[in-house]
Formats: sequence, C-alpha cells, structure tokens
Amino acid sequence: MHHFAVNRQGQLCCEDFPLREIARRTGTPVYVYSHATLAHHFKVFDDAFAAIPHIVCYSMKANSNGSVIRTFTNLGGGVDIVSGGELARALSAGAKPKKIVYSGVGKKVWEIEEALRRGILMFNVESREELETIDAVAGRMRKRAPVSIRVNPDVDPKTHPYISTGLKKNKFGIHIRQAMKDYEWAARRRHIEVVGVDCHIGSQLTDLSPFLDAAGRVRRLVDQLLAKGMPIRLVDVGGGLGIRYNDELPPHPKEYANAVVNAFRGLDVTLVLEPGRVLVGNAGVLVTEVLYTKPIPSPDGKGRKYFFIVDAAMNDLARPSLYGSYHAILPVGKCPRGRVTADVVGPICESGDFLAKDRTLPPYKAGDLLAVMSAGAYGFSMSSNYNSRPRAAEVMVSGDRCEVVRERETARDVSRGERTASFLAAKRPARK
Ligand SMILES: *Cc1c(COP(=O)(O)O)cnc(C)c1O
Repeated sequence: MHHFAVNRQGQLCCEDFPLREIARRTGTPVYVYSHATLAHHFKVFDDAFAAIPHIVCYSMKANSNGSVIRTFTNLGGGVDIVSGGELARALSAGAKPKKIVYSGVGKKVWEIEEALRRGILMFNVESREELETIDAVAGRMRKRAPVSIRVNPDVDPKTHPYISTGLKKNKFGIHIRQAMKDYEWAARRRHIEVVGVDCHIGSQLTDLSPFLDAAGRVRRLVDQLLAKGMPIRLVDVGGGLGIRYNDELPPHPKEYANAVVNAFRGLDVTLVLEPGRVLVGNAGVLVTEVLYTKPIPSPDGKGRKYFFIVDAAMNDLARPSLYGSYHAILPVGKCPRGRVTADVVGPICESGDFLAKDRTLPPYKAGDLLAVMSAGAYGFSMSSNYNSRPRAAEVMVSGDRCEVVRERETARDVSRGERTASFLAAKRPARK
C-alpha cells in the first residue's frame, strides 16, 4: 500500500501533491517520501504484534532522514542502529535511548562509550572479542552493558547474496551452537548484563520459511538459556521482511507477525522487531528528468533500442547497479503513446550505471519526468558523491503539504573538508 497515484489531470502525485510541482520547486533528482504511507506502514506492523509485548525498532540504515525517523518515533517506535553516527541521528530525531538497539559487527570503543553514556536498551553483540571490549569499556565507565548475542542460525534466507546474513559463512553473529559457551562466559562478567537473544538473517525476504526456521532455532536457545537461569527478557528477531518491487509476493506483516508470535508463545519476554525496508521502501520515489535519448541498433540487429539518459544515477540509487534490483519506472506527467525497449541510465562514467535495463517503456523525450518507484529504502541512505555529484534533495509530503527535509547538496558540500597538500600549494617558478 502506498499513496502515489495518478490524479484526474493525469499527474502522478504523492498524496495530494503533484510530483511535477515538487520537481519544479526543488529540481531533480529528488527523493519524495509520503508521510501517510510511512505512518500507515508503521501502524500496520506495530498492530500486527499487538498480542505480545514488543518494541518496533526501525532499522534506520534503510532511510536515515531525520523526518522519516521522527515519523516513527512520534508513533512510539524505537530505532535499530549500526553506528555511532546513527546513534546521534536517532537521538536528534527523538528516539528514546531505552528504545535503541545497537547491532553491527564492528563497533568501535568510542561508539560503545557513547551508547553506554546514553543508556541504550541493548547491544547486539556479534563476537567474543566484542563481548570482551564491551565488558572492558563498561568497566572503565563503572556501568553494566545490557547485552544480547546475535546468533547466526545458519539458515538460507534465499535472497540476494549481498543481503544474506544468517548463513554460517556470513560475517554476522555467533554460530548458534557456539552461543551457549559465550552466554555462559558473558554471564560471569561483572560489567555485562545478559538481557536477550538476537537474530537477523537477511533482507528482502519474500518467503516465511527462513524466518520460521530461524525463529524455531532461536526459541530452542532461549529455552536452554532460561533453563540455565539466564534472565532473558528480550528476544530480537531482526528485520528483513521483503516488499513488492515487481512481481514478488512477500508475506503480509500480519502473517509474519503471527508466525513470530507463535514461535515465542508462552515466554515472558518482550519481542524486539527491526523492520527497515518494509516500513519505508514503498513510501518513497526518486524523481528524475530525461536529459537525452539515444537510439542504438538492438542486440539482435532487427530493431532499435534506446538509452534514456536521466539526471539520477547509481550514486543516487545504487540498488540496480549493486544487486541488479528492479524498480518500476512511471511517467510523472501524461504518458507518451507507444512502446520501445530502453535502458534508463545515469550520467556516471560506468556501464554499471543504470536504473533499469531492457524495459518496455513509452518513448520518452528529453524534459520528461520519471518516477523511480519503491526507492524509499536503501536509496538516499546508500547514495554517494561519486563523480563529484551533489547528493539529491529529499522532500516529505503530508496531504497537500510538501517540505524539503534535506537540501540538495552544492558543489561546495561535495569538497567540504578537503585541503590542498601544503607541498602542492606553493607555486614556485619551474627551474630550467
Ligand atoms: C539491515 C538490518 C535490518 C533491517 O533490514 P530490512 O531488510 O531493511 O528490514 C535489521 N536488523 C539488522 C541487524 C540489520 O543489519
């Protein structure tokens, strides 16, 4: 469900606001987020777990814009962070420290200190050495660090290999059969408080069975830990629920929730959920303008194919280049008649710079505006300045209101912090 639709004038709108008008005001490329869609997704997800104590901790790496995070914190959401930078942004977007969980394989000492100082809900710890570091840092600060071990359940999430995280060959977590030893070790540390178990197996999962497998394995571990007297009160099942980009049929949050709730039935614990993509993915689009079109002979030699060269590129939306992902592409205004085969490509100097490949599309012309759909997750947050391109503006719409929630970068922003080395700066006349 999302609030992007064509109005009676044939204009694609975000809620009640035409995308063309946003492009006119802010220029392109521009990310546009629908507040109503974000809020709806959060409520549906949150309500799905109503039967059991739970905290929905939005996985903010999917989209780290402060207004997006605040949409969820205003609705009572917590945040799943993976860095000290995310901690700072989560707090400034209104996240309560007691609703922040901190995941990631490479937490640095300053990041652990900051999280302890703020008093977060828990650290999801991914190795024995990280446990040792957290114990030492908490000791120096005379604190006890609340800890879950992120277990690696060794299940295949059947998603793209780059976003599979729950196989034993992945860098994530501690193998579930190894975890008991580490729990017993952690429980003896003075500055560690064992509070829970954590697991996250991957992203864009469109099938329930890997979640069920993982949940079953985690449940057995929780039972064993409780039997040993460990005070497990939080069970974090991670994120990863997929969305529809093209023809996927991911489970509804309700089905997912029922399966998870069922797996942990009868336990006196609070569930922690870390949804990212499912909350934001379909709530955002990337609006881009066609700069040029270029026909080439089609590979079979029988016809023509086109390049639609647009002003958004892989630095703005990396997913197609990185994972070969599909994003639907819709016209923002009236749709030209006819159909051609085309690649939608950006200005970046790499053949891997494309937003869509071999699509059947209307014969767009220079100046047409296109909406790259379902770009709310892992869109802006993965964007970069490659080719010294300023990062796009971000806009949030609520009803007929539209506000810039992040300014477009300028050429100055792109080189901010850079200096010329002193041995290059002095201009001496060259000696003969
Ligand atoms: C990325 C990530 C998530 C969110 O994944 P989605 O597929 O966006 O729901 C949750 N937990 C952890 C630990 C992650 O790394």
